[in-house]
Parts: sequence; C-alpha cells; structure tokens
Amino acid sequence: MKSLLKRCVDCGMYTLRDVCPKCGGVTRVPHPPKYSPEDKYQKYRILQKLALNKLPTREEVREQILRDFT
Ligand SMILES: [Zn+2]
Repeated sequence: MKSLLKRCVDCGMYTLRDVCPKCGGVTRVPHPPKYSPEDKYQKYRILQKLALNKLPTREEVREQILRDFT
C-alpha cells in the first residue's frame, strides 16, 4: 500500500494520482520500492483486491483509492 502513495515534486503534496490535484505537477513515489517484475502490476492487483473487498482497509481509504484509480 505504501508504494501507492506519491508526492508532488513541485508542491510536495501527497496524493495517489500521477498528476498533482493541487498544482498539476508531476508526482512520484517518495521512496521507490525495489524493482521487481512482480510489483509491476501491483496497482492492479491491489485494485482487484479492493474491488473484491479482500484487502483489509478502512472503508474511506478503500473508497478513495478506487475513486482515484478509476
Ligand atoms: Zn503539486
């Protein structure tokens, strides 16, 4: 989950989006995870788990991620 959180390089705002919702700047993962082919589709595996309600998260977090990624 932590690798999903990105940070705007311009204003420093944390977001789940690829583009900063505040200033439109580019975002990136503050602490990039070690590269692994298995993680390439992590986002989609997480989304699938969320959609199937198999990922234990708070409801508001789940809704925010689904909203941001869809
Ligand atoms: Zn920004």
